[in-house]
Amino acid sequence: MAAVTPELGRAQRLVVKIGSALLVDGAGLRAEWLRGLCDDVAQARARGTDVVLVSSGAIALGRQVLGLPAGPLRVEQSQAAAAVGQIKLARAYEEALAPHGVKTAQLLVTLDDTTDRRRYLNSRATMQTLLGLGVVPIVNENDTVATDEIRFGDNDRLAAQIAVTCGADQLLLLSDVDGLYTANPKTDPTARHLPVVEQITPQIEAMGGDPVSGLSKGGMKTKLMAARTAVAGGCAMAIAEGSVLNPLSAVAKGARVTWFLPDTDPQAARKRWIAAMKPKGEITVDAGAARALGQGKSLLPAGVTAISGRFGRGDPVLVQDGSGARLACGLVRYSSTEARAIAGHRSDEIEAILGYPGRAALVHRDDMVV
Ligand code: GLU
Repeated sequence: MAAVTPELGRAQRLVVKIGSALLVDGAGLRAEWLRGLCDDVAQARARGTDVVLVSSGAIALGRQVLGLPAGPLRVEQSQAAAAVGQIKLARAYEEALAPHGVKTAQLLVTLDDTTDRRRYLNSRATMQTLLGLGVVPIVNENDTVATDEIRFGDNDRLAAQIAVTCGADQLLLLSDVDGLYTANPKTDPTARHLPVVEQITPQIEAMGGDPVSGLSKGGMKTKLMAARTAVAGGCAMAIAEGSVLNPLSAVAKGARVTWFLPDTDPQAARKRWIAAMKPKGEITVDAGAARALGQGKSLLPAGVTAISGRFGRGDPVLVQDGSGARLACGLVRYSSTEARAIAGHRSDEIEAILGYPGRAALVHRDDMVV
């Protein structure tokens, strides 16, 4: 079967990763390049595409402000540089997008925010809300607090994780190479560019070398790891050379890139992920709730007749009818203790029962496989 290459102009939700070397040079921020990128982003927004930018550059900018010497920095120096540079970085995007009437938000995330299910669900909900409001989130790793053992360390993998978290259908890594080659094109004249990778086989993995350029953390290896994450989450990923002005327009007009194709879409991938989890408890529901689930609605506490097992917020649970027949599985928005307290009650009673306002659904339809 011939692979259909995705078109950037048709993305519904696009995550773009911007490497430090594109945004920052010896003289500081590359303002003209940033303006071009933001023109492209505004055009994508105008077409109705949700856009998330994962941008590096905090450390590179911060070290210039602080006048730190060239060469590798100590961990605490990088963390200090990131703290200083992140302010400039976020402001630069805000100022470049504001003339287009596009609002921005800053999201600093750590590895925990994507691996801990509760925090993952929270970041996902925030991102959905921002995108729903038409905002362009500017994401970076929270380098200032991330410690070495528990960090992404490179924004290629962070961007892939963000793409999966927000259910993006396309991820574009703007970097200093225009894609994947069968060998290193700088040293091997027989190296061939691959426009499309349908499957990340061990042979493809073997084509990833080690990090190359001075400013960027990732090399082809981290890009292939990112591709694995993205395609498993139903998101197509492209590696493109980003240094040209208006890099998104360049890709849309056919600049050379490598696309990695997913075998499913983001919704289906997420449902597969939920369905594969081992439930931590069971929620029994009445006939009315069972009917509502069948119609694709969320599970509200009112229809719940019993709770068994011990679970925390974000844990997988099984939803069953009175006879024990399995109706659905999903990620629950309350702990088992809270769920027992609100079972059988209307959602507008939740605050009075728990003492704090919560979400209306016990299991939201987006987090459920029926
Ligand atoms: N988070 C780092 C920064 O903003 C960059 C990591 C990377 O380049 O992959 O400086």
